[in-house]
Formats: sequence, C-alpha cells, structure tokens
Amino acid sequence: MAGWNLKNGTITEYDVSEDRIWSLFNFVFSDACKKRNTYKFGLIKALLDSAFSGEITQAGIRYSYEELFSRFTYNYWNLVVKYNLRQMRKDGKSEYSRVELILKSALVEDSILGNLEFDAVEPRKKDAVIKQITAECKRYVIGALYDDFDGIIYSFDSKKAELVLNPCVYDFMLKYKAELEKLNYYAWARFLEQINDDNVLIRVIDKLELATPKREDLSIYREILRKEFEENTCFYCGKKLGKVTHVDHFIPWSFVKDDKLWNFVLSCASCNERKSNKLPDRNFLIKIEKRNKNIQVVDNIVVQKDFEGYSQDLLNRMWHYARISGLKDWSGSQH
Ligand SMILES: [Zn+2]
Repeated sequence: MAGWNLKNGTITEYDVSEDRIWSLFNFVFSDACKKRNTYKFGLIKALLDSAFSGEITQAGIRYSYEELFSRFTYNYWNLVVKYNLRQMRKDGKSEYSRVELILKSALVEDSILGNLEFDAVEPRKKDAVIKQITAECKRYVIGALYDDFDGIIYSFDSKKAELVLNPCVYDFMLKYKAELEKLNYYAWARFLEQINDDNVLIRVIDKLELATPKREDLSIYREILRKEFEENTCFYCGKKLGKVTHVDHFIPWSFVKDDKLWNFVLSCASCNERKSNKLPDRNFLIKIEKRNKNIQVVDNIVVQKDFEGYSQDLLNRMWHYARISGLKDWSGSQH
C-alpha cells in the first residue's frame, strides 16, 4: 500500500545510527523524494518547532495531531494568506493543494480575515480551519513521510490522532535542530522557486522563517512569575524591577521557537537588551533549574500545562545544543 494511504504504522527499528538518520533526512530534502506539494517540509517544521513540547513516554515522544497541525496551520496561514506563496505544482487536476483551498475558502467566507494574523481569527473559525487541515494531513502526509523514512521516524495511529517519535530520532532532532531547520528551509525554498512567480519570492527564506508562530502577548507569564516570586527582581542582575518588566526567553527564541513558562524569566530592560540573542552561561542555567523546581509545583493551570513535557535533563540538553548551534555565552557581568 502506498505510504500516504496508511492508517497507522509502527517503528521498524529502534537502534538507528546517526549516519543512517542523516541519510534519510537528506533523502527527504532531495529531489529524489517525490513531492507534489510542500506538506512534508511543513510537517518536518512542525516537528522541529514542537521539539520541546512533546510528552516523553516509554514508547517515545508523543505528539497529538492537534498540536502538530495547529502549528502547521499557523505556518501555512502566513505562507498562503500573508505572503501568497503557492505550495503545489500545478497539475491537470488542480492548481492549489487542499490546504491552500481550505485557507482560501475561509477567506471567501470572510474577506476581512486576509488582514489578520491567524492568532487574531475568531476561535471558532480558527478551530474549524485547523480541523479541516488536520483531516487532510492525516490522510496525505503522515503516512507518506513515515514511508520516506523507512518507518524509523515515528509510529502513528490515525484513530488516536497521535504520533510517537522514535527516541533516537528525537535525540538526533534535538542535537541537530539548527542544521535541520536550515536544510528544511533550503529545500522548501527551492521547491517554492520552481512554482512561484518572482514577485512573491523576494526574501523567501525570511518568509519561511517568519511564518513560525510567535506569541506576542506574554503578559500572562509576567503575572505568574511576578506572583510566584515576590521579591520581584531581575533574574540576571538581581536589581529590583520597576514598572517596565521584560519577559525574557532564557534560551533564545531563535533556537527554541516555542513559548513555555520554564524558559521564561523576568528581566530588567538593560539586561534584556544586553543579553539579546545570547545564551546565559552555566551559572544562570543552575539558577533557572532551581527556579523551575520551585515553580513546577505551583497549582496553576498554565504552569501545569507548560511543564507537561519538562524535565531538568531536557533543559540541560537544550542549553547544550543551543550552544553547539552557535549561540554565544553571556555571563551577565559586563555592566
Ligand atoms: Zn537586570
């Protein structure tokens, strides 16, 4: 049976070497791997962007389709609605992929949506779009990618609407996250260049990167951190915080691509600016680990949800891999 048509799949091999995983990723990025549309790139991006939010289970790292395809939909919203980038090779049957058609038909119903960020769309409409896109991907991309990877990347079950990443592939994706992201953008951009007009291709790599959903309003995190840490001081320099309090991604957003409480600290404007896209050094890592231990037990729904996939070990590895990805250390002391 063709891969795209599979309803479920199990992991064929658990102990896979890095060389083999590289070879499979490089195959998927190459022209030898068949693609009518960009869904495979979209799913790989959703997996990379969710790297730190899966649920660690005995069998592997679990993701619900809902989580993955919400990210996927946010992304395609930007690419299709905002940047007008076509995502499918024209063929005799149709000009657009189903995902593009779903997004376009939401716009036909309500043209005002074209000016909105996906986050600003009314929840009911947003959910309806995500649902349709999930159904499409369930059918046409999960099984296809599984097949391209010879069944080593994940197991999946369309009835349960979840996939479970092979632990060794997960480790690989954490370790080479920055490299895989770049390769994925490169291959995706090449594909887009073949099917789009020059005018929409301006800064196409930027458009792919910028399509990553980013939470703009971090006030909810500010409130929780303020409430739980009454001393209300800057995480980095210890100075008392005034009215202007920054919510800072401890490990820079450029690496994590996710907003989770365990990676947020309160900071003064000056530290926030000095730190910028750098990585706080090991002393700060120890400090945030302690902080997380204290906050993890707080009885608050946002806290509990954000800490679902968290472990000190994960934060440690993430910090280590962020460092290999080229982020410079910041000791916070050069005032
Ligand atoms: Zn400070």
